[in-house]
Amino acid sequence: MPIATVNPANGETLKTYDALGAEEIERRLAAAEAAFRTHRTTSFAERARLLNKAADLLEEEQDDIGRVMTTEMGKPVKQARAEAAKCAKAMRWYAEHAQELLADEEPATSDAKDSGASRVLVRYRPLGPVLAVMPWNFPLWQVVRFAAPALMAGNVGLLKHASNVPQTALYLEDLFRRAGFPEGCFQTLLIGSGAVEDVLRDPRVKAATLTGSEPAGRSVASVGGDEVKKTVLELGGSDPFVVMPSADIDRAARTAVTARVQNNGQSCIAAKRFIVHTDVFDDFAQRFTEGMKALKIGDPLEEDTEVGPLSSKQGRDDLEELVDDAVENGATVLCGGERPDRPGWYYPPTVLADITPEMRIHHDEAFGPVATLYRAADLDEAVAIANDSPFGLSSNVWTREEAEVDRFVRDLEAGGVYINGMTASHPAFPFGGVKRSGYGRELSGHGIREFCNITTVWHGA
Ligand code: NAP
Repeated sequence: MPIATVNPANGETLKTYDALGAEEIERRLAAAEAAFRTHRTTSFAERARLLNKAADLLEEEQDDIGRVMTTEMGKPVKQARAEAAKCAKAMRWYAEHAQELLADEEPATSDAKDSGASRVLVRYRPLGPVLAVMPWNFPLWQVVRFAAPALMAGNVGLLKHASNVPQTALYLEDLFRRAGFPEGCFQTLLIGSGAVEDVLRDPRVKAATLTGSEPAGRSVASVGGDEVKKTVLELGGSDPFVVMPSADIDRAARTAVTARVQNNGQSCIAAKRFIVHTDVFDDFAQRFTEGMKALKIGDPLEEDTEVGPLSSKQGRDDLEELVDDAVENGATVLCGGERPDRPGWYYPPTVLADITPEMRIHHDEAFGPVATLYRAADLDEAVAIANDSPFGLSSNVWTREEAEVDRFVRDLEAGGVYINGMTASHPAFPFGGVKRSGYGRELSGHGIREFCNITTVWHGA
């Protein structure tokens, strides 16, 4: 894939970049190693000062970088600005909390004594340069939720961003540099995916995190396995959104629209499968479909656009194939389902009902504004449909019955259960999935400790 900015609203190529050559990659790996030697010794206070400065800059520049993101991958510009603001918040959160999250732990004195020690400490030490392979869909957020904890822990970052967001990738390197992080602490490598393996195999690189598709995750995980290097994977999702009879159906239907089409429907944690109890199915289906039909589709740089184009022609074509396959196999189209005749990679908000397991969309991730509706006879069937997916990222359930909440929390196979609301990440809460959605966690204390050497310090009596 060429490294280029191609505006998805009209298909125009705006800027292309040459991939880094071997010599330049070598120079950057050496810079990362050198930076780590110093950065690992700096205080939490100093790291926090720099990260807070980066947050200030990002807030000041959210209009400009928001437009860049929109031009590179098509998200509505309002959402792009909100993403920048959310990144600043996450930076501040880690600046404030990293020290307490990584404070030394002291196991029980009785256990220390039992081991023959006078004192035992558990210390969280940094690992070194960490490679981050990131996707285009939240081009700032995906990177910042890795970079903020990594830098606060004393690691240094090497970013291989998606090839279609090079300007955002370069902005991030520049942002951390202008905030005062020394040369080499955070570097962007403009490389294609084929160059990732060599970088990860380099002995100076200690670990990797990848957010993206299952094939990319599998590839990075197998190289990491071969090199015995830690990896964290945040992969796809096909989150269920379950609606039970006691729910506020109007609020559930309005939230469902946002949960499905945010970021033009290209979010791993978007609700994708809507599983509705038969008693409220018709009411929910009608309200939800009306909401999807009413969305304003248009140029993502316009302030009032709610749904812009998909990020690439390939992405639009893949989604269209998924819908066509469902329709050929008997799905009912409640709205959308026809590619509009206009330049750019647009696909309309679409609702499909009468889904069966033979349809590809039943198991594959629909990465765009396409929702599937399922009718569940009772709680057991709702749980069974929700779990009938290779993915397990997050889940949403709408009910006012405590016993149903307990059942969903016990039985849903997912890294999150959001009750009477939609999934949204927050720096303080762990984020990640099970099954084919990956492993490991980002954000919160769990995220910052993923790339730490958890060290037992044992003092003899
Ligand atoms: P993708 O093709 O996997 O790309 C993601 C990143 O991986 C890009 O930087 C890409 O580089 C790189 N890459 C691709 N193939 C690779 C390989 N074989 N080895 C090493 N690196 C490789 O994913 P996408 O289609 O852009 O993104 C959408 C997917 O990401 C969806 O499945 C979505 O659900 C998932 N996602 C998950 C989360 C989460 O937190 N769980 C968040 C956002 C997105 P190039 O661009 O150069 O190919």
